[in-house]
Amino acid sequence: MEILNFINGGFLPPKNKSWIDNINPATNEVIGKVPKSGIEDLELSVKAASLAHPKWKSLTTKERASYLLKLSTKIEENIDELALLETRDTGKPIHTSANIDIPRSAKNLKFFANFAMEQKEEEFHGEGLKNYVQRSPIGVVGCISPWNLPLYLFTWKIAPALISGNTVIAKPSEFTPTTAFMLAKYCSEIGLPPGVLNILHGLGPEIGSAIIDHPEVKAISFTGSSRVGKTIAETCGKKMKKFSLELGGKNPFIITENAELEKAVSTAMRAAFTNQGQVCLCGSRIYIHKSIYENVKGKMLEKLKALKPANPELPETRFGSLTSKEHFNKVKHYENMAKEDSSIIVHQNESKMKEGNFISPMLLENVGVNHPINQDEIFGPIASLKAYENEDELATLANSTQYGLCASIFTEDKTQAKRIASKIETGIVWINTWLARDLRTPFGGVKASGFGREGGNYALNFFTEPKNICFTEDN
Ligand code: NAD
Repeated sequence: MEILNFINGGFLPPKNKSWIDNINPATNEVIGKVPKSGIEDLELSVKAASLAHPKWKSLTTKERASYLLKLSTKIEENIDELALLETRDTGKPIHTSANIDIPRSAKNLKFFANFAMEQKEEEFHGEGLKNYVQRSPIGVVGCISPWNLPLYLFTWKIAPALISGNTVIAKPSEFTPTTAFMLAKYCSEIGLPPGVLNILHGLGPEIGSAIIDHPEVKAISFTGSSRVGKTIAETCGKKMKKFSLELGGKNPFIITENAELEKAVSTAMRAAFTNQGQVCLCGSRIYIHKSIYENVKGKMLEKLKALKPANPELPETRFGSLTSKEHFNKVKHYENMAKEDSSIIVHQNESKMKEGNFISPMLLENVGVNHPINQDEIFGPIASLKAYENEDELATLANSTQYGLCASIFTEDKTQAKRIASKIETGIVWINTWLARDLRTPFGGVKASGFGREGGNYALNFFTEPKNICFTEDN
């Protein structure tokens, strides 16, 4: 498939005529080509977005919502096709694309359309004053998203940006461009006004960086690695540009002596290995109370036996390939590190998948707290197990990395749950679950995991500026 940029409502090849191969990571076959966009494509997009902004901003929230709802319906009507395309771009099981990624993409658009319509202007009355807070869109904004949950995270960003009255320049990952291209087709089919959403494809350090630098792009919403996030914070800081960063994680998953073990074990496996461990929220450091360690480990190893890489396009597959050769090489490096260190105990199945970027899931024991396997965001199917003795030690372990995105705690004791949660430096804590989301709640991390929050009003506030209008009571 030839992917094209979506600029001012039209489909355009890159002005510089440069392309990147789109590769199916499960086979390493070239399945299409992707624009390697440059500054000329960006200038066209910014011009279109700037021209479209006054009209788009002047629509009512209900009018803007009607477009988002139509896009959501389009996604729902095309789940099977979109799921297959997402699987071919990412290597994730079709079961995951069809049941998680694509339905959630439709839900993101629907959620923000409906949620924004329910919001009321803030008012503060008192002290002889009547204050009203008007929220105005920022203007042209940039949305940059990663490859692990392509359409899911793309829509999670553009929906609050658009519903708030901004016009958008969006860049999906160069590794997974296809479903964003399909969304552009739906925009055209539903008659989204030209220039409201512009989608540019290409490399992060080229077109991604150019979007961030552009003076007419007034705010940046970025999801990706902490390494790139830091450079974006620097650039935006120097330009006094608003930014929000959703970055990496190295999340603790805690099973206390009061946990319901069957649920804890099956959730720990899901948290470690969903999407081949390529979810920022994956629980890759599993801390188990020493009194139940051997029991829990035995149950996890039993489940590990059933988790084998297979062709992601088969409906029964639950574990696919990593999303690119580059990323495969990175994860392989950590796999080799574990296997070459005689003090580390490795539990891993043989993989029969020899062609694509498949790595069999691994559970490790005896990995030191400061070992790179326990410190770096591997973003792959590698998780370590460790026994802890008491809650003080647990808190130290849980907080022992530069990251602070999420944590899961398994315990039937609510007081213990709250006590442990209060000690963990993180943006999200799940009790007896993982990845459960109410889209109104704040989503994001602390420390190297991010800056700002997404979700509900947190996202709407990011994409607008408040203006306080103050009357005296006698007015
Ligand atoms: P990445 O940082 O390499 O790239 C993310 C996006 O930024 C891509 O579209 C890429 O092209 C672009 N980009 C790369 N360099 C850029 C630059 N210099 N300027 C502007 N844009 C640039 O991340 P990735 O490898 O695509 O995704 C994996 C990372 O994303 C992991 O660290 C993961 O934890 C993180 N992530 C975080 C969340 C979250 O919500 N916190 C969700 C998903 C993924």
